Parts: sequence; structure tokens; C-alpha cells
Amino acid sequence: MDRTARSEETSLYRFPCGDWEWKQVGESLRERMNGLGMHRFHKKALEIRAAIEWLDPIMERYCGETCPSCQDPCCNGRNVFYNRTDLITLLACGEPLPPGQTRKTADEACRYLRSSGCSLSRTRRPYVCVWFLCEPQMVLFQGESARLQRQIVRVLGKIRENRLLLESLLDG
Ligand code: SF4
Ligand code: SF4
Repeated sequence: MDRTARSEETSLYRFPCGDWEWKQVGESLRERMNGLGMHRFHKKALEIRAAIEWLDPIMERYCGETCPSCQDPCCNGRNVFYNRTDLITLLACGEPLPPGQTRKTADEACRYLRSSGCSLSRTRRPYVCVWFLCEPQMVLFQGESARLQRQIVRVLGKIRENRLLLESLLDG
């Protein structure tokens, strides 16, 4: 079977969701993954987590330089949600899911946003919150050495590949 056949992540679960519904979604996904063999997802999920941990200090540095003076914080956007791949990754790492989707209704702010920034570790955020580089951060990225730029692009590519593999494993 071609495990890389999928080219886009599903948008499943990318919607406002009450906590009870969220719990059902998580339980039914866990059950499905257990049925397929949770161990099959484990290695790729751990690789994703390790890659995000590698990215974290770089992204933290960018945020430290850009976010305090930001006039239009991206976390105020209303279109940031966990998708199914985020949940598969967390479950396969053996982690509990966060208590809920980023918001229960479309007009709420992200429940994880605090005055000091995101309350979640980077590995537990929706992946869109991990890879997103806003314009000022792109400028910082472009100021990095060519070697580091290549490394970052490679790591992001590997995360994407592994996330698509996890989706393919689920869908068989
Ligand atoms: S990541 Fe960019 S857009 Fe988001 S809060 Fe920081 S500076 Fe603003
Ligand atoms: S999960 Fe964290 S990083 Fe993502 S939108 Fe919410 S507060 Fe911002």
C-alpha cells in the first residue's frame, strides 16, 4: 500500500465544538486507533513531537522578538482549530487530549490564550500554531544562515510527511 498517497490533511474536526462532543470525538478516535494497533502510530508521532521540540527554541526566539509589539496578534483569529491529525498525534504519543477544541462557538477567543500568550506547550498546540510564521517572523527566518534555513525547511517537511502518514495509517 502507498502510505504517502494522501497529499492533504483532512479538515475533519476543524470546527467549534462543545466539550462533551470533543470528548466523544477523542474517545472514538482512540478506539479506532486501538483497533488498528496504537503501536503502529507511535513511532511517527514521537518523531513529530521531537521535531516540534527542536523547532521550539527557534520559534520562541522569533516570538520574543515580534509578539510583544504586535498590533494584530494571530491568536485573536477565529479560524484556528485542532484537526484530526493533531489528535491522532497526541493520542499516539500517549498523551491526554487537551480539554477541548480551541473554542466552543465561532465567536469565542481561543480558550488557551492568556495575557502572557499561549498556555499550551508547543507540542500540544494545533499544528497550524506551530508552523505559522507571520511576516515579521519571515524576515527573521530569512536572516538566518542558509544552513539553518535549510534545516528548518527540512524539519517542517518531515513533520508534514509524518502527519500525512499518520492519516494514511488511520484510513488504511
Ligand atoms: S506570531 Fe506574528 S502575528 Fe502572531 S502575535 Fe506574534 S508577531 Fe503577531
Ligand atoms: S492554541 Fe495557543 S497558539 Fe494556538 S491560537 Fe490558541 S493561544 Fe494561540
